[in-house]
Amino acid sequence: APFPAEKTALVTGAASERGIGRVTAERLASEGWAVAVADLDPIASKSVAEAIAGKFGVRTYGVGMNVADVEQVNAGIDEVEANLPQLVAVANIAGISNPTSYLDIKPEEWDLVLNVNLRGPHFVTQRAARSMVANNVGRIVNISSCSAPMGGGTFSKTAYSTAKAGVEGLTRATARELSPMGVTVNCVAPGPIDTDIMGGTLSDERKEELAAGLLVGRVGTQADIASMVNYLVTEEASFITGQVYDVNGGLWFR
Ligand code: NAD
Repeated sequence: APFPAEKTALVTGAASERGIGRVTAERLASEGWAVAVADLDPIASKSVAEAIAGKFGVRTYGVGMNVADVEQVNAGIDEVEANLPQLVAVANIAGISNPTSYLDIKPEEWDLVLNVNLRGPHFVTQRAARSMVANNVGRIVNISSCSAPMGGGTFSKTAYSTAKAGVEGLTRATARELSPMGVTVNCVAPGPIDTDIMGGTLSDERKEELAAGLLVGRVGTQADIASMVNYLVTEEASFITGQVYDVNGGLWFR
């Protein structure tokens, strides 16, 4: 089906001040989307939603949601749908890093990383897709990482790399089932982006070191990822599904 005149994009992990999610939410608002801001802290989510509404003059709604908790996800998306126009796009951006080396990682830590980074996008996609399929139109974008194809090799190690590889599998498998019902599913795999996810380890020195390993000679910005997500949720991107796009400054290529 064609896009409705008024449409909502739900962005998870959108309350982080310097995060990819927040910048993506702002980019989508600038393109006229109503925006649902979903993050762990309901107060932070609501205040970011208000700021975006004020800055871009679009309808927004902030909701607290632990993406790893299916009840919270289902209730949160119910709330979004009761308050905003038709849900057309989801950007699954919430995620956590994990630098623990393989021989040291404990079961609880492993589960947390897998739960947030993989079960999270699954729960959000499943709930959102139920609505999208009913309308026969939808766009879902997941966030992987260069860590998935590289097997780590960045700040985060095995648990994270494994979860993100799972996200790429989730992307392809959900694309196969949902695309015939009007819902495309794609994935963006960022290289190093200048956010707070590396727990304060991304010093200027470390950034220069990383930049030296990238063909374009700089680390990425949140906007570099937001613009790719923005394209993948447009109406004109309807022929693209099940794909993973590397946005990594030339860190590696296929
Ligand atoms: P960030 O830490 O700034 O943002 C992550 C956001 O997710 C935060 O607002 C956090 O509160 C939220 N979040 C964490 N756990 C959550 C949960 N259980 N439920 C709901 N929200 C939760 O990090 P970022 O760098 O903006 O990362 C965004 C995404 O990009 C992540 O999926 C990350 O793995 C991915 N990524 C980042 C980089 C990078 O270099 N920054 C590289 C590759 C991939």
